[in-house]
Amino acid sequence: MGKYFARRDDRRKREDIARERVDILVGKIRADPAGRFTPNYVRLALKLAKKARMGVPKELDRKYCPECYSFFKLGKTYVIRIRRGKPVMVCKCGEERNLFKPSNAKGKE
Ligand SMILES: [Zn+2]
Repeated sequence: MGKYFARRDDRRKREDIARERVDILVGKIRADPAGRFTPNYVRLALKLAKKARMGVPKELDRKYCPECYSFFKLGKTYVIRIRRGKPVMVCKCGEERNLFKPSNAKGKE
């Protein structure tokens, strides 16, 4: 805890403060998705959300790279490539992820 967070028993207040801070960071991320400091804002927003135990903010859920924390913005921080006939997102750091979640079809890993 410490100076950044409200008292432990004051959960409502803690979430409100964290929400407010996350909103500010999301605003900065939206304003400049490919900015030099955007990965830092993403990392910080996730850290705040985690500490306040409020889950991943919906503005960031599956919209950032788990490797380099870039915010996904088509053409700026990622491109779409075809791998084995399927489209994948390729981050500027080289990380690839499936564009569509694999279906839970039987026998599929
Ligand atoms: Zn990346």
